[in-house]
Amino acid sequence: MSRYEAVIGLEVHVELKTKSKLFCGCSTEFGQEPNSIVCPVCLGLPGSTGVLNKKAVELAVKAGLALNCEIGTYTWFDRKNYFYPDLPKGFQISQVFRPIAYKGYLDIDVNGQNKRVRITRAHLEEDPGKLIHSGGSITNSRSTNVDYNRSGMPLIEIVSEPELHSGEEAKAYLEKLKAILEYTGVSDVKMEQGSLRCDANVSVRPAGTAGLGTKTEIKNMNSFRAVQRAIEYEAKRQIGVLEDGGRVIQETRGWDENKGETLSQRNKENPDYRCFIEHDLAPIGLTQQWIEEVKATIPELPDARRKRLIHEHGLPDYDAGVIISSFGLAEFFDATLKKYSDAKTISNWITGELLRLLNARNVELNETKITPGRLAALLQLIEKGTISNKMGKEVFEEVFETGKEPEQIVKEKSMLQISDEGQLTGIITEVIAGNPKSVADFKSGKEQAIGFLVGQVMKATKGQANPGIVNTMIRERLG
Ligand SMILES: [Zn+2]
Repeated sequence: MSRYEAVIGLEVHVELKTKSKLFCGCSTEFGQEPNSIVCPVCLGLPGSTGVLNKKAVELAVKAGLALNCEIGTYTWFDRKNYFYPDLPKGFQISQVFRPIAYKGYLDIDVNGQNKRVRITRAHLEEDPGKLIHSGGSITNSRSTNVDYNRSGMPLIEIVSEPELHSGEEAKAYLEKLKAILEYTGVSDVKMEQGSLRCDANVSVRPAGTAGLGTKTEIKNMNSFRAVQRAIEYEAKRQIGVLEDGGRVIQETRGWDENKGETLSQRNKENPDYRCFIEHDLAPIGLTQQWIEEVKATIPELPDARRKRLIHEHGLPDYDAGVIISSFGLAEFFDATLKKYSDAKTISNWITGELLRLLNARNVELNETKITPGRLAALLQLIEKGTISNKMGKEVFEEVFETGKEPEQIVKEKSMLQISDEGQLTGIITEVIAGNPKSVADFKSGKEQAIGFLVGQVMKATKGQANPGIVNTMIRERLG
């Protein structure tokens, strides 16, 4: 393996979060009855012409700016001609000659090393329809249905330079790209719903050389993990071919998740789409002022936010990384911090209980009833000693499920922590009398024996005693 180096470029298709399609008024809602959201324009019926969706242009520019791209102030659409059932009009409207965004970059972290990956271009295009094979894949199905609901959906295709050198780097690139697109609100970036799709161009070359080997294009990867595995497999396969004295054929290969291998799909030595300008649509002219207005709507992006969490709020690098990995968590953290000032405590609850429950219930943050205000209220109850940290976890779970205010839950469950020494005196007397051995151990210098005694008091009060106060009281008693 070490005699060779993998060279990877990624093409990522991202569905833009608009209400209507790119050139018609059809809805972009996901999961509707097949072929129920169509019209003459997105079905490509003869004589129909569309009108460009301004929101799609705005989101494409926003994505381009967030990816440090230059923005084309004069661009247009082109026809990419090919014949396939997912494309009834026989051509896809795309931007071949003049992309709306180009020459950008993305910084990624791999094994603690920062790496800048250049972005060649990000262009607007329409999605074709979706083929649904009855047998699961094109090679073993007896029939295929076409759903044109997806036809005409607005996409940007983001193309990286071939500068990634491992599956791990590709995964890091995708994670960062996904976070930026989520932060900017450009897309839902849901890989499982197809709003983010990735193809990988993979080739290998002798390590230390600069030329490019023959590449294959890998498709059909349904998760970032799958992208990583597919690239690792494909690089190994190509090295095997070369070591055996063969040559790599330029082709499209599909990733088979179950077999864990890439399989040849079609030979693609000479793709020729006969591209030419789409004269049915007007060119796009953007003013510098409008681009600046779009730029002003970009929120603080993941890298900047991570730095702020570490340097202004004193969070460890790990905590900051977890919190910024999702825009929802990052916003939740900031909003809680406005109501409760201890950043590390908030972070502990977000990276601990909140993530644990989100994973266990398999839900998104916005599907739960926890709010920054409720978390802050809960943390104040713990800080005041009204409830213990342990009770706090129980309350948190109930807030998460029901949306009740923490104070109300504490009252309903009569969870109030017992901090009143008068109430604790009798119980402590009983515990000391009932455990002479632990008392003797403690007196003879075995510090850990006190833990057992405090535990007995906690047990007797069903966890409601304030452990700090109990600890102090026992120490005082035992002199
Ligand atoms: Zn339509």
